[in-house]
Amino acid sequence: MNLIFLGPPGAGKGTAAARVAEEFGMPHISTGDLFRAAIKNETELGLQVKAITEKGDLVPDSLTIELVNDRLKDGDAANGFILDGFPRTIPQAEALETASKITRVLNFKLDDEEIIERLSGRRVCRSCGKGYHVHFMPPKKPGICDVCGGELYTRKDDSIESIKNRLSVYAEQTEPLIEFYRSRDLLSDVDAKPSAERVFDSLKAMLEAL
Ligand SMILES: [Zn+2]
Repeated sequence: MNLIFLGPPGAGKGTAAARVAEEFGMPHISTGDLFRAAIKNETELGLQVKAITEKGDLVPDSLTIELVNDRLKDGDAANGFILDGFPRTIPQAEALETASKITRVLNFKLDDEEIIERLSGRRVCRSCGKGYHVHFMPPKKPGICDVCGGELYTRKDDSIESIKNRLSVYAEQTEPLIEFYRSRDLLSDVDAKPSAERVFDSLKAMLEAL
């Protein structure tokens, strides 16, 4: 099974990908992780990624494609993989098409209002890094970490303004992939509104039926 998990930020596809990867014994390949690993290992591609991201620019398609294609050649991806965060653009999807045969694309669906509620409610402890959510996982005392008593804050990425920006980038660059894969008869919609547990159960049933 060569799978792509597609969906807007906040739809829970990273969490779902990690669980499905564990359940089915396949690697969970996220471009964020690939970038971080390449930078840490100071590979040739990693040094290029580092120079680009340090300037605050987006990693170009060509470089992202090269990193992903390299990763897909690793032995553990031979019998299947989950791609999370890739492809993000039509050129990336076209490049992937020439390198690998995709079995299924799971399209996580969640409306913008719900995404904003989920992401803007996130809080992180400044001292120990533990994550909270004002509605779904509140600390015992508002604004204070249960574990270490540190101060909770909202990451810049989770500010309303930043979330709206991420959603518009997603709509512009990534939403066209829905039609791209639907026209190839590869797309399955996933309702991302229920709990992570229920989303996982329905994914599992869907994949076992493939
Ligand atoms: Zn803490």
